[in-house]
Amino acid sequence: MRYPLVLTLLLWYAIKPQAQTLISCGTDIIAQQSADTNPTYANEQLAYEVAYRHKLRSPVSRKKSNNVLFLFPVVIHILHDCSPIGSDNNPSDTKIKEVLTRTNERFSHSYTNAPSFESPLYGIDTEIEFCLASVNPDEEFTTGILRHNDSDYSSGPITELSPYFGESLAWDPSQYLNIFLVANTDVAGVYLGGSERDFIIINTTFLWDGLLAHELGHYFSLKHIFSNEVDQACPLNTDCLLQGDFVCDTPPKGMAGKNGGTCDLPSNSCDADEDDLSENNPYRPVSMGGLGDQADMLSNYMDYTGDCWAAFTQGQKARMHFNIEERRMSQLLGSITTCMETPPLYEIALEAVQIIQDTITSTWIPIITIANNGNADVTELQVTFSAATTRFSNEYATKIEPNTITSITLPSVDFPSGLQEVFISIAPSDDTIDAYIGNNQTCLSMDFGTSVSSTSNCQPIVFTKEVIVCNNNARVDGHAGPGIFRDTFPMSNGCDSIRILDVVVSSARIVSEIDASICEGEILEGRSEKGAYIDIFTSSTGCDSLRILNLSILPTLEETVAISICNGENYQGHTTTGTYIDTLVSYSGCDSIQIIKLSVEDTGNCLTTNTIESLIAANITFYPNPATERLFIQSTVQETISYAIYSITGILIQQPSLLKERNEVKVQEWTPGLYFIQFTTKKGHSTRKIVVE
Ligand SMILES: [Zn+2]
Repeated sequence: MRYPLVLTLLLWYAIKPQAQTLISCGTDIIAQQSADTNPTYANEQLAYEVAYRHKLRSPVSRKKSNNVLFLFPVVIHILHDCSPIGSDNNPSDTKIKEVLTRTNERFSHSYTNAPSFESPLYGIDTEIEFCLASVNPDEEFTTGILRHNDSDYSSGPITELSPYFGESLAWDPSQYLNIFLVANTDVAGVYLGGSERDFIIINTTFLWDGLLAHELGHYFSLKHIFSNEVDQACPLNTDCLLQGDFVCDTPPKGMAGKNGGTCDLPSNSCDADEDDLSENNPYRPVSMGGLGDQADMLSNYMDYTGDCWAAFTQGQKARMHFNIEERRMSQLLGSITTCMETPPLYEIALEAVQIIQDTITSTWIPIITIANNGNADVTELQVTFSAATTRFSNEYATKIEPNTITSITLPSVDFPSGLQEVFISIAPSDDTIDAYIGNNQTCLSMDFGTSVSSTSNCQPIVFTKEVIVCNNNARVDGHAGPGIFRDTFPMSNGCDSIRILDVVVSSARIVSEIDASICEGEILEGRSEKGAYIDIFTSSTGCDSLRILNLSILPTLEETVAISICNGENYQGHTTTGTYIDTLVSYSGCDSIQIIKLSVEDTGNCLTTNTIESLIAANITFYPNPATERLFIQSTVQETISYAIYSITGILIQQPSLLKERNEVKVQEWTPGLYFIQFTTKKGHSTRKIVVE
């Protein structure tokens, strides 16, 4: 399907209150030229309008279910000439998202302080919404924002830029709504129609939600509500479906702009409002059931009245819905997937880059602002700078939580002197893969010369610093908080750097919890008993921090072993019958007391005596050791013997039980580590080590 080849050139004046740039409009001239020179264009235009009028006159078409939401996936292409991310010509992801959010609020007429109008036809919810595409044509994740460092195509007349954009950069217009932001061109904004193009170009200097709403109106086939710039006369209004902007509830208007009126007190430049007597015209005479003659609708997005802009009309909504239902269902169906992709685990984006000169050392300090768009913490960051033939790459430990934006001041970098194009790229360096690397690099053109002091090219470097204090009287760098303070610091190159100091008062206490253990009899910070202790410390920022100390006491292990040895042998250095107490260091690092009941047998008895140690050695086997799930203990002992299992800290893990021929202990839920099995007979007891993994 071919679309009408509409070229809507918008040359702009007073598009926003603060930008009084005078540019005129070429819309009607270009449209007329197209109709004169391109029969296909003329025929398609005619066919579109015939179908539109047919639709409006058909009673069925006016019945529309409530709360239909048309959602369009948008891709933003930014073309700049080595402008750093976050600058006017290369706006940050955050700025783009803010503009799109406010554009959505204009389309739904739901923004804060959106005016209400006497006419029920004004200021309606268009039920059209836009999202940034989250899937690209190759079905990979995207943020919907593409940045091109391109000195050839970041500036120039629309007629030179648009063929390249259409042929080389635009994503399939039947799937995506393409918007190009350029550093400079001959219009503030323009919608270029036709199936080959079908995209919007915005001069980035003029990027704001009002202008975007205007151009999107053109995208959905709305025309300016004023007649044209050529004759500037009031249009005929004998059939409002055939004349003017083909929308009956926008009052006829000759000239663009305010024509002497103000947003609150508009003039009434045309008296043809009542001329169409049919029911199509809501402004037919009051005597015929109409609303009568109207003042100029300066609030309409399709006029040139930037600071008044606040409304689409019911009729404009119907024309946009007609355009969508007849021409744009493919974008709409695509949006089911392209708008809905869930955020990936790892996705970081450069939001802004500044390089400032230290006023004392004259070294160059980069400050980068990073957004974490993923679902996981970023813990390490690799930052690479390339300038001329020099390349610096460093890894920095940092923590950026999901859905946050953080500014990081990096150690100074020794950039080569003179005017340089610096390329800066970031990557998560902890073996994670960034889902979208299109927003990980930027270019920055800067003069690192130290000898020339020029103030003519000064752009103040602005950086923000947040300080948290704990009461309203705290002073930070001479400012009594809380508040936002602006300080100017001169740099050695004669330019200023501006610091935005945000002093925040927080009563929140920082709570931390630590676990510690000591041996029985030892003292930690005056404590020798098991328990949870709360201490309050004052941090360097004057804020209280509260620490919970969970103290556990490791018991002294005591074990008794009964040992028989033959005369002439020794057991741990002992050679005569008796009770010995040895102090050892256990695996926990605490003392372990071993009581040895040693009997030394004479040679005759020695062969037949069965000590507990030799009894166990000869008759008991346990396996596997280390054990992971189950431990088996096999016994061929005839006499009664019991066993119990203790942790390394002496805690009873398994109650004493009688040893059978085959015993099974389930250990899979035990904490991995060292355990002791204690075997007991009436002769005494003996301990063996087992390891659970
Ligand atoms: Zn326009």
